[in-house]
Amino acid sequence: MSKEHTIAIVTGANRGIGFETCRQLALRGIQVIMTSRDEAKGQAAQQKLANEGLEVTYHQLDVTDSESIQRLANDIRQQYGRLDALINNAGVLIDQRGVLDTDLDTVRKTMEANVYGPWRLAQALVPLMKQGGHGRIVNLSSGMGQLSDMGSGSPAYRMSKTALNALTRMLAGSLRGSNILVNSMCPGWVRTDMGGAGAPRSVEQGAKTAVWLATLPDDGPTGGFFRDREPIPW
Ligand code: NAP
Repeated sequence: MSKEHTIAIVTGANRGIGFETCRQLALRGIQVIMTSRDEAKGQAAQQKLANEGLEVTYHQLDVTDSESIQRLANDIRQQYGRLDALINNAGVLIDQRGVLDTDLDTVRKTMEANVYGPWRLAQALVPLMKQGGHGRIVNLSSGMGQLSDMGSGSPAYRMSKTALNALTRMLAGSLRGSNILVNSMCPGWVRTDMGGAGAPRSVEQGAKTAVWLATLPDDGPTGGFFRDREPIPW
């Protein structure tokens, strides 16, 4: 399939790694559907790319809102009839306390955005990928979700990323043989609102592995966890 006909959705794309992922995908000639929960912020981000000569489509999407997800799925079905890549980038880090005194509402809110969002999106959008016989799902996870290196700060965020990795494995397993490849990645510690100004990596570096996983060839990996295009432990 030529890149010109590849359609990719990026969630939480109005800023940070999601915005940069849209930019890098658009530079490759991929048709990008940039999404954000806040329409004004998303449209401002779309305009920013337009000012650089990059045309992307915009659609509202709050990953915690089933109706918003359904509207997106319906519009994509009507307009394109298929979807090639879903980059689950939207995420929150709202932990203020440690594992022994955290408020479980914080855990629930974090799970809604970081895990149930990507889960609902897979349920809504995989049928469109199957229709086109081609799909790539990229889950923006984190080293903070690695069981092999589990710390104790930001417990809701950590657990959500471990759970997102489990979702990656389950989706990859159930979609094996369908040409829909599902992978998790860690972008590294990146200078964004979430990562802070002191992070060592640029958004350009952070988005690279997402773009690679979103454009994998048919014989590419599935059910893996990557940083800088290299497998890392769960
Ligand atoms: P960021 O600058 O905080 O941006 C997060 C994006 O997610 C924003 O666009 C935000 O929208 C959006 N978002 C949050 N909740 C949403 C919802 N319910 N529906 C739709 N969009 C929603 O974060 P980032 O650093 O670019 O991180 C992107 C991804 O990489 C996240 O999944 C994060 O966990 C992961 N990651 C980041 C780092 C790092 O060092 N930065 C490291 C490891 C992993 P609003 O503007 O409306 O809030």
